[in-house]
Amino acid sequence: MAEQLELILKEKEINPTAMRLLVLDYFLKQSSAISLSDLESDFDYSDRTTLFRTLKTFEKKGLLHSINDGNVTVYALCLDNCSEEFHADSHIHFCCNSCKKVFCLPKVKAPVLEMPLGFKMEKLDIIAHGVCNECK
Ligand SMILES: [Zn+2]
Ligand SMILES: [Zn+2]
Ligand SMILES: [Zn+2]
Repeated sequence: MAEQLELILKEKEINPTAMRLLVLDYFLKQSSAISLSDLESDFDYSDRTTLFRTLKTFEKKGLLHSINDGNVTVYALCLDNCSEEFHADSHIHFCCNSCKKVFCLPKVKAPVLEMPLGFKMEKLDIIAHGVCNECK
């Protein structure tokens, strides 16, 4: 398992430090997106700055994508072929009003929007709000 984790990091050209392996392992076990505070409370032996830097590195390298629901930023593993230059994540997200979790909906694709001339879209956040399948 540890070797598999290392491979995932190496594929994204991320140096596999012990901390990064732990964080990756943690994300692989989640069914919903995770905020820095969630991560912090589950990694009580590490400080917030290190965790934040790890998240940012993962995001930059195309391993995690971030979702901002207006208040908090949450992170989830990239499901598409993301790279350092480009996040290809084209799915929308779902925020549950009851458990407050944010889920990736890999099968629900965001519409392709045509931007006016001179506008370059870098990221499209679409968040559906409602009740998830566990809270319904
Ligand atoms: Zn991505
Ligand atoms: Zn829920
Ligand atoms: Zn997602």
